Amino acid sequence: MKLYDVTIIGGGPIGLFTAFYCGMREMETKIIEYLPFLGGKVSYFYPEKTIRDIGGIPAITGEELIKQLEEQSRTFDPTIVLNQQVVGLEQLEDGTFLLTSHIGEKHHTKTIILATGFGVLKSTKLDVEGAEKYEGRHLHYTVESLECFKDKRVLISGWGNSALDWANELLPITKQLSVVHRRNEFSGLERYITNLRNSSAAILSPYIIEELHGDGQNLSCASVKNLETGKVHMIEADEVLVNHGFLIDSRPMKEWGLEFQKGGIKVDRFMQTNIKGIFAAGDIASYQNKLHLIAGGFFEGPTAVNSAKAYIHPEKELKPIYSTTHF
Ligand SMILES: Cc1cc2nc3c(=O)[nH]c(=O)nc-3n(C[C@H](O)[C@H](O)[C@H](O)COP(=O)(O)OP(=O)(O)OC[C@H]3O[C@@H](n4cnc5c(N)ncnc54)[C@H](O)[C@@H]3O)c2cc1C
Repeated sequence: MKLYDVTIIGGGPIGLFTAFYCGMREMETKIIEYLPFLGGKVSYFYPEKTIRDIGGIPAITGEELIKQLEEQSRTFDPTIVLNQQVVGLEQLEDGTFLLTSHIGEKHHTKTIILATGFGVLKSTKLDVEGAEKYEGRHLHYTVESLECFKDKRVLISGWGNSALDWANELLPITKQLSVVHRRNEFSGLERYITNLRNSSAAILSPYIIEELHGDGQNLSCASVKNLETGKVHMIEADEVLVNHGFLIDSRPMKEWGLEFQKGGIKVDRFMQTNIKGIFAAGDIASYQNKLHLIAGGFFEGPTAVNSAKAYIHPEKELKPIYSTTHF
């Protein structure tokens, strides 16, 4: 098993930038990410939205930002492991760490940088038999690309801001839009609700999706059930988008002996946690006056890397290093 200088847990925006900076400090680096894609909350919640509060970048979509961060993170060729949630952490006698993922794979590292956000994001799945056959193709839990919904018959199931938000966003590009909601009232921004009610979208409430119909590859329609009358209708649908909320799983981390405060992991100004050799950056790092902004994490990541470097090589002085002196 290869021993890495640093293992970054979490491939969100901060994990990606941190990996780039690890390369600048010539550290053997591994990123472990639970999701099947990189970008964390940006890719998961708002790839198509515009981010306007990163210095020097007046406006950029979430997707474009992650594309650029991923390219930057790969500059020094780190090892990137997807589809693995780190669930176990053990410090060995020599001070190194052994991480275990949910599929039992082991990862050996001298230091750890936690860039985990608030934990692993897990969408609440559509509770319908056989739904998993369509997952990732025509059954979606997030909008990775608007293109996939263009000129399609789209069925959205959900009741919160997210479902409403996407319904409004997809409305102009879809061939037909239907929204099912298990209650009579939507809870969300009034403007979105009014806009939807005045549109050509079919709003079915209180309804739930009861069955998906298709050939196992492509979807053709869905049975939806009226919760008051029990009547079942068929709705034509090529794509189904489910926004039933999500869970944030941070349980494993809570068992690693780390000190938590205000929902995050307490760090000092070196991004050092209470366990020597384990650092944190991004949303999970907690200190006074913390701002949960991407721009803030872009500072915390390099700080954590410099601290990790100094932990491995105490003789290496912690001093600022500019990219302009390296390229
Ligand atoms: C709707 C919305 C809009 C926002 N808009 C803006 C904005 O305009 N500007 C701005 O600056 N910020 C914005 N933010 C905040 C911004 O998205 C976060 O600050 C940023 O994503 C934090 O990055 P991160 O890398 O620390 O964490 P995350 O993006 O949460 O990434 C953490 C990653 O770690 C993975 N992970 C966690 N635990 C494990 C584990 N045990 N094993 C393996 N992988 C793990 C997760 O799956 C996740 O992919 C917004 C947030 C939301 C929700």
